[in-house]
Amino acid sequence: MINKFYEPLYVTRPLLPGIEEVNKRMKEIWESKWLTNNGVQHKKLENELKSYLDVEHISLFNNGTLALLLGLKSLDLTGEVITTPFTFPATVQALDWNGLTPVFCDIDPDTLNIDANKIEALITEKTSAILGVHVFGNPCEVEKIQSLADKYNLKVIYDGAHAFGTRIDGKPISSFGDMTMFSFHATKLFNTVEGGALAFKDEKLNKKLNLLKNFGLAGPEEVVLSGLNAKMNEVQAGIGLEVLKIVEAERAKREVIRNTYETYLAGIPGIRILTGLKGENSSYQYFVIEIDEEKYGRSRDWVHEELKKYNVFTRRYFYPLCSDFGWYLHLESAKTENLPRAQKAVKQVLSMPYYGELETESVEKICTILKEKIHVKVVALNN
Ligand SMILES: *Cc1c(COP(=O)(O)O)cnc(C)c1O
Repeated sequence: MINKFYEPLYVTRPLLPGIEEVNKRMKEIWESKWLTNNGVQHKKLENELKSYLDVEHISLFNNGTLALLLGLKSLDLTGEVITTPFTFPATVQALDWNGLTPVFCDIDPDTLNIDANKIEALITEKTSAILGVHVFGNPCEVEKIQSLADKYNLKVIYDGAHAFGTRIDGKPISSFGDMTMFSFHATKLFNTVEGGALAFKDEKLNKKLNLLKNFGLAGPEEVVLSGLNAKMNEVQAGIGLEVLKIVEAERAKREVIRNTYETYLAGIPGIRILTGLKGENSSYQYFVIEIDEEKYGRSRDWVHEELKKYNVFTRRYFYPLCSDFGWYLHLESAKTENLPRAQKAVKQVLSMPYYGELETESVEKICTILKEKIHVKVVALNN
C-alpha cells in the first residue's frame, strides 16, 4: 500500500523569482513614480522578449485573452473563423467578443491540434481566418495551414499560450502565421502574474495595437478608434524581467522531470504521453497523458478521482470541449458527430503535476500508483 503524499501536489506551481530581486524592481518602480503606460520596465521587457522569443514585433498586454481579442480585432476579420474545439475557453471567447462565428474543426489524434487536413472542407465565402492553438506546446501543421490560407486569402492566428519559446526546426513558433498570442498567466511557464503578448509580422499593426489597448487614444485628447484598456503595467513587467532570468533553469529542471515520467510510464498499457517534444522544440508547459480505458482497464475520470486519494490533483485539460458550450450548440460544426476525435480525446487527457520543484521521487511514486492501478481485466484473468 502506497501512502498518500503529505502535501497536496497540483499540476503546476508558479515560477517565482527571489523576493529580494522582486523588491529591488519594485523599489525602481516606486522611485520612478511611473506605474503603467509604457514605462521603463515595460520597454525593457519588450526588448528582452523580442530577443528571447526571436521575434521582430511584439506588443505586451495585461493578459493573454485580451491580447488575442485585440489581435483578432486588429486584423479586421469578419464572418467565420475556423478553429479547434479542444482548447481553453479564452480562444473561442476572443472570437465571440469580436462578433466572429467559430467553425469547429476536428483534431489530429496525435497532437490534439486542429487537423489541417479537415480545414479546407469547412471554408466558405464567409471564412476570414484560421485560429489554431499549439495545444500543450505541440506545434500545429503550420505549413499546411499557411498554404490553405494563401489559397483562400485567409489570415492565420495562433493561440500560443502553451508555446513560449517553442521552435520548429530551429524557427521560432511565432514566425508562422500572421500573429501569435502568448499568455503570461501565473500557471504558464513564463509568467508576469497575469499578462500576455502578441508577436506579429506586419509592422503596421504595432500602431493599431497600441491604440486598441489604450482606449484608441492617439494623443491626450484624440480618440481615433474604439479600444479597450489592455495594457501591461510596470509591476507586471518588472516581475516578468526577473522571471525571465530563471526560465532557462526551470526548463532544464522540467526536462529531468519529463524524462523521469517517461522512464517510469514506459510500458504501461493504455498510457500515451502527449508532451514528448525535446529541447528547443518543447515548451515544457505541461506533462499530459492520454488514458485509453480499453487498454488500461480504468477510465481517465477514475484515475483523476483515485489520485486525489493520494493527494495528487491532476487536471482534465481541456474538458469540456468548447463546442459543447451552451451558446454554440446551434452551430452545425459543434455537433458531436462532426467532432469524433475531439470527443474521444476530451475523455482521455490528463495533465499531471509538472514544475521544476517537483521531486523526482514524487514523480516515481505517482507512476508507481498508476502502475498499480492498471487493468482490472488482467487481474481477473490471472485469478
Ligand atoms: C492560459 C490560456 C489562455 C488565456 O491566457 P490568459 O493570459 O490567462 O488570459 C488562452 N488560451 C490558452 C490555450 C491558454 O492555455
